[in-house]
Amino acid sequence: MSKRFDIGKLVRENIRQLVPYASARDEFSGTASVFLDANENPFNAPLNRYPDPKQQHLKEEIARLKGLDPACLFLGNGSDEGIDLLIRVLCEPGRDHLITVDPTYGMYGVCAAVNGVERRSVQLREDFSLDPEAVIGEADSRTRIIFLCSPNNPTSNSLDRRAMLRIIDAADCVVVVDEAYVDFSGEPGLLSMVREKRNLVVLQTFSKAWGMAGVRLGMLFADPELIGYLTAVKYPYNVNALTLDQVQRSLREPAAMKGWVDRILRQRDLLAGALASLPFVRRVYPSDANFLLVRMEDPRGVYRYLTAQGIIVRDRSSVPLCEGCLRITVGTENENRLLMNALKKFA
Ligand code: PMP
Repeated sequence: MSKRFDIGKLVRENIRQLVPYASARDEFSGTASVFLDANENPFNAPLNRYPDPKQQHLKEEIARLKGLDPACLFLGNGSDEGIDLLIRVLCEPGRDHLITVDPTYGMYGVCAAVNGVERRSVQLREDFSLDPEAVIGEADSRTRIIFLCSPNNPTSNSLDRRAMLRIIDAADCVVVVDEAYVDFSGEPGLLSMVREKRNLVVLQTFSKAWGMAGVRLGMLFADPELIGYLTAVKYPYNVNALTLDQVQRSLREPAAMKGWVDRILRQRDLLAGALASLPFVRRVYPSDANFLLVRMEDPRGVYRYLTAQGIIVRDRSSVPLCEGCLRITVGTENENRLLMNALKKFA
């Protein structure tokens, strides 16, 4: 399927016709020292200047790190911007739809609703594995996007690579694989397939392993033609100067990120073992992410008790397939100890 894939055919007519906004800096190329083109304040350098709307330097550095062409990369205000833009570019409200595989990250559905786009839901199997034929069976000629999340939030498992590739190869639409948690996983992810599979979009983020949720930077990797449409629709200066600068500096110290991931993975194992030994815990699901899904007796009572102790976890107990479950992020050694001390008292 991928070889004959025509991205232009999936894009909304108004987006195909769009003449994007050209900022002052877009129109100028070359070197200059006097900038009187963008109605900026000449004082308070360097923050007085608009950031590079193309984020060229940062894109080149990220692309080098990931082994892909910068033309395959879109940078957004978190992965959430990429999710929203994909829907705005590909789905005609009231006509087209997208598919999510549930339970999963809530923003796919929220962005669909905001854009007036129908969301069709396919359930994961009881063991949280992906049923590729069920997803393919739900798709039709009006399906524009299938969202897969691997490792999946909130179930914490990676989806089977062959099952994801089966969907990508069979689908006549874009397949998004959200890899927000891939750095915590033993699985390599699908980034290396982006060049080969024209309908594959991979999302990654600086919010998790890189420890920069506060700067809001998400990466979207896809075919350059699709990147071009997303770039035409984005706000001109969607990534701010402070973010560009901070991420560029952090990229020069990848050892810090690797160190954090190692510590989190060690803590994940210790915490999983400690939680499993609590008498009211029924199951700690194996995790490929930086959080644990934990099935227990009286999850709401535990949630309320922890909140009263100043410890916040995520109550997923009313989510289909996650009944009885809390989702617990792996914290520092000290945070995990405080959590366990509190839970032992609850027991
Ligand atoms: N994808 C998944 C699966 C997530 O769980 C989250 C945030 N929890 C995001 C994307 C959002 O990431 P960002 O901070 O880059 O918007």
